Amino acid sequence: MKREELILACTSDIAGKVRGKSFPATQLEKRLKRGIGWTPTNVQITCFDNIAETPFGSFGDLVLIPDESAVMRLPEAGGPDEVSMLGDIRYTDGKPWEFCTRSILRDALARLKKVSGLTLNGTFEHEFQIRFEEARAGTAFSSSGFREWRAFGETLIAAMRDNGIAPDTFLREFGPGQFEVTMDPTTGVAIADQAVILRELVHAIAARFDKTATFVPIRGPDTVGNGVHVHMSLIDAGGNPATHDADGQHEMSQHAGQFVAGILKYLDAFTALCAPSVVSYLRLTPHRWSAAFNNLGFRDREAAVRICPVSDMSDIARARQFHFEFRAADAAASPYLLLAALVHAGAQGIEEKLDAPVAVQQDLSLLSPEDLAASGHKRLPKTLEQALDAFAASETVRGWFPDSFADIYVKHKLGEATMVAGLEPEEQCRRYEEVY
Ligand code: GLU
Ligand code: MG
Repeated sequence: MKREELILACTSDIAGKVRGKSFPATQLEKRLKRGIGWTPTNVQITCFDNIAETPFGSFGDLVLIPDESAVMRLPEAGGPDEVSMLGDIRYTDGKPWEFCTRSILRDALARLKKVSGLTLNGTFEHEFQIRFEEARAGTAFSSSGFREWRAFGETLIAAMRDNGIAPDTFLREFGPGQFEVTMDPTTGVAIADQAVILRELVHAIAARFDKTATFVPIRGPDTVGNGVHVHMSLIDAGGNPATHDADGQHEMSQHAGQFVAGILKYLDAFTALCAPSVVSYLRLTPHRWSAAFNNLGFRDREAAVRICPVSDMSDIARARQFHFEFRAADAAASPYLLLAALVHAGAQGIEEKLDAPVAVQQDLSLLSPEDLAASGHKRLPKTLEQALDAFAASETVRGWFPDSFADIYVKHKLGEATMVAGLEPEEQCRRYEEVY
């Protein structure tokens, strides 16, 4: 039968899910101007598709305006390409809607620029797993694991490149059927757009190989997690690296030290935006190479913020390689909200002129509660509930977002949590695995 190309205009919402409406490709010009109708209450559709408590009810009209700079295109044999365009949610008069995740990130990046003159250069490192596969021992990081999945990996890398994402590495990670994929950094909302597009590509390409991928934070209480590590550096107005200072604390520039200090100071109050699912807290536990404390680590893969290694053999200058990564996030988080929180925390640290943190080179989980307190470090929230309480209680962190955003977010997450309340952790993971 004949087919006519449809384009999906979509948003990556509070739940980190991509939702939208499609229109015939012939309407593109019109839709780029006036968008496609959208409804405020959609913001309260949780990852499980129940609607959390909403102040909007059946009222209000919004438009979702597709953005030509955020397109995902996937060729399909025998049919039109699959085309999706991420967009912004606006009021019908064109004003950005307060709960549009992309607009929230744009505001955060503008604040950083305003307080420091600096631009964030960043990229998301993702891990994911393939479901319904029998775990074969001896395949972690192995050549046989690579060989088995090479065609999938090569298809993914080609699709990333075709979609304007510069691939960096693809590897068979440690966990059963687990992979990691990294890409080069970029700037602006594209940092998060690319994370969204990457996840969509992984899901779509896995399906072409008759496989099912999941970015679930963790598949069970006793397994490794799937992390999202956010790599960040700062660049000045001239495009020069501004993260490195050979004489600075751990070689961090003053602005970088303040930025990282801001992240650590406010981390417990915004953990709910980085690790936003009930099962995220099974992952944020010691000895999983995720993060369990609000610490800076020098090349330590269990620190919330890690100063990443630089290579003396590279032809890229040390200052340009130098960067840090945030490890306490997962893919249940909206990439826009997660990054907005990090950028606001960093900008706040710069505004408050915080002292650069001292990197910890020890396993904080071995300290007694007294020694931990004396070290100045804190365990991150241990449950989503604790994280939401900390978010709601911090006037500063709530203030980074539009009025009533925190209220909407907390209600959304509580509505999501009711869907897995009372289930065993294994079953909770399974439910989340289905939707991410
Ligand atoms: N799987 C780990 C996590 O949950 C990360 C492992 C790594 O260092 O890549 O964050
Ligand atoms: Mg990894």
